[in-house]
Amino acid sequence: MTDIELELGSKFGVHFWTESLRMAGKSEDFSIGIDLGTTYSCVAVWMEHHNRIEIITNDQGNRITPSCVAFSDSEHLVGDAAKNQEALNATNSIFDAKRLIGRTFSDTSVQRDMRLWPFKVIADANDKPMIVVEYKGEEKKLAAEEISSMILVKMREIAEAFLGSAVRNAVVTVPAYFNDSQRQATKDAGVIAGLNVMRVINEPTAAALAYGLHHKAATVSEENILIFDLGGGTFDVSVLNIKEGIFEVKATAGHTHLGGEDFDNRMVDHFVKEFRKKHKKDISGNPKALRRLRTACERAKRNLSARSETDIVIDCLFDGTDFRTAITRARFEELNIDLFRKCLELVERCLKDAKMNKSSIDRVVVVGGSTRIPKVQQLLQDLFNGKELYKRINQDEAVAYGAAVQAAILDEKVRNLTLLDVAPLSLGVEVVGGIMSVVIPRNTRIPTRMEKQFTTSYDNQVTVKFDVYEGEGTQIEDNNCLGKFELRGIPPAPMEVPQFNVCFEIDRNGILNVSAEDKRTGQKSAITITNNRGRLPKEDIKRMVESAEMYKAEDEKHMRKIEAKNALQNYVYKMRETAKEKNGSKLSKADQKKIENAADGIDQWLDKIQLAQVFEYQFEDKMYELKTLHTSILTKIN
Ligand code: AMP
Repeated sequence: MTDIELELGSKFGVHFWTESLRMAGKSEDFSIGIDLGTTYSCVAVWMEHHNRIEIITNDQGNRITPSCVAFSDSEHLVGDAAKNQEALNATNSIFDAKRLIGRTFSDTSVQRDMRLWPFKVIADANDKPMIVVEYKGEEKKLAAEEISSMILVKMREIAEAFLGSAVRNAVVTVPAYFNDSQRQATKDAGVIAGLNVMRVINEPTAAALAYGLHHKAATVSEENILIFDLGGGTFDVSVLNIKEGIFEVKATAGHTHLGGEDFDNRMVDHFVKEFRKKHKKDISGNPKALRRLRTACERAKRNLSARSETDIVIDCLFDGTDFRTAITRARFEELNIDLFRKCLELVERCLKDAKMNKSSIDRVVVVGGSTRIPKVQQLLQDLFNGKELYKRINQDEAVAYGAAVQAAILDEKVRNLTLLDVAPLSLGVEVVGGIMSVVIPRNTRIPTRMEKQFTTSYDNQVTVKFDVYEGEGTQIEDNNCLGKFELRGIPPAPMEVPQFNVCFEIDRNGILNVSAEDKRTGQKSAITITNNRGRLPKEDIKRMVESAEMYKAEDEKHMRKIEAKNALQNYVYKMRETAKEKNGSKLSKADQKKIENAADGIDQWLDKIQLAQVFEYQFEDKMYELKTLHTSILTKIN
């Protein structure tokens, strides 16, 4: 074990490692930190030899990877490769899985989002949303957990390629405001990806770790910080106290459906209306046009963080009509001001819950790509009476960085750091009158175990039903039902005589377990919430693990085909070169012609064939034919 050292430079002092370092790391057992974002994901690892966190670049050299998965006639793509082809394959390019995970199909936010997604989502028999894609000519239905698991696999592979060794353990981050179902579902995605999810931690808490380590260089003994984390899909705010390596979350608040994509959606809506007005055409039912418009809007939004006006030019957007327009920063702000204000309301609520006022906050730290929006920064700064915002930690990487630190803490590679987190939502059961009886109030430190007594509501009641809810409404209809369970076989007794101890336990991942005990009989029963809406049953997870292996095997097969095709093309190229080199010397005109004809024949064959239908051995056969011919010609002249 080592004390974490603060050799952190501008971007966390991240360095590109040399081959020797990769080799040095080979024998180690690595645990990685994954920020599984709505729009982008990021992976980091603690490099023990160098006492430092490394943000790992992907195969494209990028430090963040699009959370996008695509399916085609021949392959299944994840990350940059999926994003790069999405305009051409909009209905089979899936993004935003994080907005579906752990939710039901009938959830109002799912219904609203679906209108703007170019891909199809349907409900299964249990009201679970299923994404419909076409893969290799067949229709496939996938749960959000499966899409997320594919992104997790990609992040693991990025880490493995860098570390040169297999990785199994990971800490995965979730928005602090994710509820029980969303956390469970994220863990399930990890299981499907073949990962051992050591811990699920909250994104703002991870960002606080990154901040704490980055800032410790300035040697402050105790600080209250507010993390304002506005990403692509979610908003979280947390107030923490940092003292002598203890990171204690005092309160957290947020929204699981508030982020950059909502700002993009407002722009998309705005331009759909403008297009309708200008060209009398409605693009809202055309997935491809919507996808192209959304991409242009996202780019325009980024531009508006640096400029006061930007153009949008999309050739042939719909029905052969080009779309040329412009948008000012002021207009963009006007379209989104209510959403920006909502973030500030949540900041105030978080401060109130933490029992702190604005002046007791020493630092306001911003993370998440959407905090680059000048208006968001200005409103936040104004709220804190002009206090300078802390922007020196990398907005896109801080969360993965913190996750990797947590992984190192769990591996006991880093000591003297402790994280104390809280439950974001109150948890309780329904009592008579549809009232929520809270067992664990929100912002209770986790892990925790709390009990409450319940009794019967009529004489000789032999069964008691418990409906478990989360949320802040006093009426259960305003809260989210996590599941229901029953206690049966209660010995008959007058009402309010039997006593049941209901125990709620939240583990370090923020995941809930409930148990109950009949105090009279002493009979205990551990209850698992079976009817956890939106959750995957165990058999489905098993099936998805098998599918993930199938995808892996098919991807590998596809890679082998591509490699075989590349090898054949390279050989054709080399053959032509040798024919040219020998031109005018020993090689006869007839042999030159033979080589050219053979090479042209291969080119034509390659143009004609569909990669999907060609087996590697067909490439090998062609290669064999070609090599035999080539060698026979060359041996004549040597
Ligand atoms: P994150 O989830 O933290 O990776 O944030 C991604 C979100 O940040 C996306 O919605 C991006 O469009 C948004 N974003 C990234 N850069 C900027 C920028 N310069 N201005 C406005 N939004 C941005």
